[in-house]
Amino acid sequence: MQRTILVTGGAGFLGANLCRSLLNAGNTVIALDNLCTGRVQNIAHLRDNPNFTFLQQDVCDPLTLPVQQIYNLACPASPPRYQADPIGTLRTNFVGMQNTLELARTTGARLVQASTSEVYGDPAVHPQHEEYFGNVNPIGVRACYDEGKRVAETLCVEYARVHNVDTKIVRIFNTYGPYMDPEDGRVVSNFICNALQGKPLQLYGDGSQTRSFCYVDDLIAGLQAMMASQQQGPINLGNPTEYTMQQLAQLVLELTQSSSEVVTQPLPGDDPTRRKPDITRAQRELGWQPSISLRDGLVRTIDYFRSQL
Ligand code: NAD
Repeated sequence: MQRTILVTGGAGFLGANLCRSLLNAGNTVIALDNLCTGRVQNIAHLRDNPNFTFLQQDVCDPLTLPVQQIYNLACPASPPRYQADPIGTLRTNFVGMQNTLELARTTGARLVQASTSEVYGDPAVHPQHEEYFGNVNPIGVRACYDEGKRVAETLCVEYARVHNVDTKIVRIFNTYGPYMDPEDGRVVSNFICNALQGKPLQLYGDGSQTRSFCYVDDLIAGLQAMMASQQQGPINLGNPTEYTMQQLAQLVLELTQSSSEVVTQPLPGDDPTRRKPDITRAQRELGWQPSISLRDGLVRTIDYFRSQL
């Protein structure tokens, strides 16, 4: 069935990939974005589609749009970007979240909230499952994002309890792929762009900290599976295969055939040492799991960055 769907943060990395996928499925899509970290070039290829509308607007400003579904993705996701305006990040996660929920309340739209593995902070439980309450420093340098996303989750469940709004929460773990911003400081784009340009790859600490990386097409399928389901969540979405930063650097060097050197830098504040999703719930309740290996996903992502540089 064709629907009118709002994607807040629609000009960002995940938003642009999601808008394209929703349009391909025959929907009408409204992308709302204030372009604080998103890029017009991410959606340039969608602008000629008559079913696509772009609204340059802040999600903290009141919204009145005739929509049936909402994906709330608006929020800077990379640490240097969300730390550049910490109060703005908090505001987006509270005021923006509430505006989006008010729109869902008045239109009856179903809403999927893009939460994050960062709600688990520096986890004492490994892998992270949805019942774990997390280990977050409320006054640390990452708190504007981590605590912002936690309160956004709380707003979602209270709008469901108090106003009967149909809200769903997904907790997204590290995702990478085409349309990432090469300048926003995320590890996969940093490594690839530096390797392609012969610049050093910067490892924080000794590079033994782990992350798990989900290719964007897998993640977008998970978001849509959540929207189509009767589940409220929270549900983890991510790839459970774990890699050290050292291994990621070596794989990028191999696939780009780069001779860049790997250099080390001090660890930034509150950087989690291990991160890996338990996706049992997504497998059971959504029938979802990632299917694209890190190697295959990196090849596609490297092709994208090669075409951009
Ligand atoms: P991104 O920074 O590329 O995209 C975020 C988009 O939101 C940008 O286009 C930005 O301009 C827009 N935005 C930010 N504040 C806004 C505001 N106040 N009003 C309107 N637009 C605003 O990041 P992304 O990787 O595409 O992440 C999208 C969402 O997914 C974010 O909410 C992020 O927290 C979540 N997430 C992403 C990852 C990941 O690995 N990519 C992991 C966990 C969670």
